[in-house]
Amino acid sequence: MSSPPVILTPPDISPYRHSNSGVDFVHVFDSGLPGPTVMVQALTHGNELCGAIALDWLLQQGMGRSVQPLMGKLILSFANVEAYARFDAANPNASRCVDEDLNRVWADEVLFGPGDSLELRRARQLQPFVDAADFLFDIHSMQDACRPLMVCGLLDKGAAFARQLGMPGDLLIDTGHPSGLRMRDRGGFGDPSSHKNALLIECGQHWEAAAADVAIDGMVRFLKLTGMVDTAWAQDRLRLALPAQQNIVRVDEAVTARSSDFHFLFPVRGLDVIPTAGTAFAQDGEHVFKTRYDNAVLVMPSTQHGKPGNTMVRLGRLD
Ligand SMILES: [Zn+2]
Repeated sequence: MSSPPVILTPPDISPYRHSNSGVDFVHVFDSGLPGPTVMVQALTHGNELCGAIALDWLLQQGMGRSVQPLMGKLILSFANVEAYARFDAANPNASRCVDEDLNRVWADEVLFGPGDSLELRRARQLQPFVDAADFLFDIHSMQDACRPLMVCGLLDKGAAFARQLGMPGDLLIDTGHPSGLRMRDRGGFGDPSSHKNALLIECGQHWEAAAADVAIDGMVRFLKLTGMVDTAWAQDRLRLALPAQQNIVRVDEAVTARSSDFHFLFPVRGLDVIPTAGTAFAQDGEHVFKTRYDNAVLVMPSTQHGKPGNTMVRLGRLD
């Protein structure tokens, strides 16, 4: 399967290397006033260009350099800058990470354990900022074409936060990843009794132009919701209408390939709904995968070639 075309241009982020925070590519802007600590992160995955475009845009608005947040502190982080530096439009899948997925290393036993990788070293630099944040907005995009969606985590409080934000139209409550804790589920973000809250937005396909608009729009709304900017500042910069409604999908099942023969039985696209329980949708050798309930939602089906153990799609129920 060939990759989608690379339409977006990766911005030059070298002007943002030096910072006041003690960590390269992490900027902290302190209003000097009481209020929340708010963090926006781009480039958790090095080939997801829309987040870098959004932060570059924000820094060029004067946000930070000359404009302070209205209250509290604002942290802007370019995360996997080493992977991003290797981005090559001719091979755009290669720079998702260098050694391992930066979004699977956020459990204490991994972060503070004996392991070593380029991503672990970066996560250890980012950890104090992540743990200081009351509210986090982590900007991602997807391998395959799909309308934007919010990964709200395992808890209903994430979906409530996305409803306050007002976008995008599709909100996922999921089960995390067996291969490791995501940043958005770490500490208070994953604790129902904590006031902390995090959102992970998937803005669209990695390299499509629309993903950058979604990233900027979502970030502006997030900065307004968390009190970093005022309504007039946000209104002047919003570019997309809010969706008419927001649907919650509760992800409950991962479908993993048993062999390289895994294939869908019809063309699929992310967030497609299969109306009838018992519908065969994929096959792997002799094994046929069928839906177990009506209105099963296909969450991020992979059109890549299956390898044994790879998650090919997750299924969810419309709330
Ligand atoms: Zn990502």
